[in-house]
This record gives sequence, C-alpha cells and structure tokens, in this order.
Amino acid sequence: MATGGATRDVYVSEVGTRDGLQNVDTVMPTDAKKAWIAAEAAAGVPEIEVGSFVPARLLPQLADTADLVSFARALPDLSVAVLAPNLHGVRAALESGAHRISVPLSVSETHSLANVKKTHAEMFEEIAAMVAAIAERPSQGRPALEVSLSTAFGCTLEGPVPEDRVVAMAERVIELGADDVGLSDTTGYGNPAQVRRLTRRVHAAVGADRMTGIHLHNTRGQGLANVMAALDEGLATIDSSLGGLGGCPFAPGASGNIVTEDLVFLLESMGLYTGIDIEQLLAVRDGVQAALPHETLYGFVADAGLPKGFEYARAALD
Ligand code: ZN
Repeated sequence: MATGGATRDVYVSEVGTRDGLQNVDTVMPTDAKKAWIAAEAAAGVPEIEVGSFVPARLLPQLADTADLVSFARALPDLSVAVLAPNLHGVRAALESGAHRISVPLSVSETHSLANVKKTHAEMFEEIAAMVAAIAERPSQGRPALEVSLSTAFGCTLEGPVPEDRVVAMAERVIELGADDVGLSDTTGYGNPAQVRRLTRRVHAAVGADRMTGIHLHNTRGQGLANVMAALDEGLATIDSSLGGLGGCPFAPGASGNIVTEDLVFLLESMGLYTGIDIEQLLAVRDGVQAALPHETLYGFVADAGLPKGFEYARAALD
C-alpha cells in the first residue's frame, strides 16, 4: 500500500501500463511509459502496475518492465506492482524490487491452458514455489503476492464458470500462502449481482481481509455498476486503466478495463477520497495519446469535462 498522504477511502490501482499496453499492438517507447507513470503518480494515483514479467517474444510491448520498476520505485509514495504468470516471472519481479506481485490464475482451466499452458494442479504447484521463493527473501521488503482469479465471472472459451470453483480456488490459494486473492472479470461478463454474491462467498471462505480488491472490465458497459456492488461489499482496491486503454476487439466502442478518470470521478463525487486530482489525470491522456496515435482512448469525463462547481471528497488534496 502507498505510504504517504491521508488515508484513502478507495485505493485506485492503475493497470493501463500493463493490461492496457499488452492489448495494443504498438510498442510504446520506454520514455513515454516513464512519463505516463510519473505523471499519474504526480496526480495522486497510489499504485501502478507498470508491466509484466513475461518473455519478450510473447509480449514485446512489456519487455522493459524491469527498467520501469526501478524508475517507478524512485517516485515518492507509489506502490509499484507487476504481473508475473510463473515462478520465473516472480524471480524476475523479486530482482526488480517490485512492491506487489500479481499472479493470474484462470478459474477456467481451458483458459489457463491457453493463457499460461498450465493445468490448475500445475498452477497450484507453481504458486507454492512462488511463495517459497518470496519467503527466501529478508522479511523486510518482501513484496505482497496476490493471486488474481481471472475469468471468475465467465470465460470466452468455457462460458459460465461455477461459483463453487471460484470459492474453492480462492481457499486453496490462501492455504498455499498467497497474501491475498482477487476477483478478475477478465472477459467483461460480470454483473453487479454476481459481484455481490461472489465477494460475499469468497469473504466468508477466506476472510474479508484476504480479498480486498477487484479487477473489472467494461466490455459490456457494466464496469461502474460492478464497482458500486464491489464497494457495497467492502472492496476498497479497484483496478482501472487510463482511457480504458486496451479496448476490446469483441465489443467495438467499449473500453477494455474500466476507465480510471471515470472511476475517480464516480468515487470523488460520492464523497469517497481517492487522493487523485482528476484534472491532472485528464492531462496525462494527452501524452499517452501522442505516444499511441492509433489507439482510441475512452472515457465520459474526458469528453464532457467536470461539472460546474465540482467538489472533491476532500477539498484540500494532499
Ligand atoms: Zn484485465
């Protein structure tokens, strides 16, 4: 978690530099990514997932992740997160000094085989090895290991995903020693009733303190409605992407991840303090758009502007 500043009511975790960029073909120059990360941190975003430790031949867009971690670690009060799909990636993440490592575990085994070429049994073994690798480090400065249950709300390959399986996998992951588990609507299939039900069930199984965040996509326009359900159930870490970057090839006009600017507007207008300055956030879009001239950036607040007389949850931003 971020260290400085007043306590945030909701902790917004920017994933555009990872989830967004892995879904666009253009390779964004490292300097442009650094400018993006620095500008978002300066706008008050407490956590940024700066990249993913995957082989560069698979995702050349994210080949500079180690460089970005070391850059981002030098920024004040920023939690630097990375994604790592396997033990090799976790070792690289440990070397890099990332504060938080997120591991995707597909609830759909078909998706797991397609995405990381591993069965569930193999992934559980891998997670146990990741936990052991992290435990070898001095207790001071160990990164947090979060296992993100992807396709938790449905899978493009398998269709509906049994909720019992989501709950059982969450329990297993915590037993294996992960610090926390998260729900991920990778496919944008989720609805608010489902968010409520699954969050309640996973909280009952592993404890509310072991699942505090959610990763939502807006593929079918349900993103912010799902955020409301998540907030009602006590989740206080929400992933989002600047400009909803990444898009979705299956839903033209729909953003990929939920849009950070719109999320922060929703939260602040409801009186929930995020520590983020929306005008500064909107200004970050210009640099990102210039570096990715062929990508569409989404967002209602960017189009419409802030309402006249808009007030932040706390007038004095720290
Ligand atoms: Zn995603």
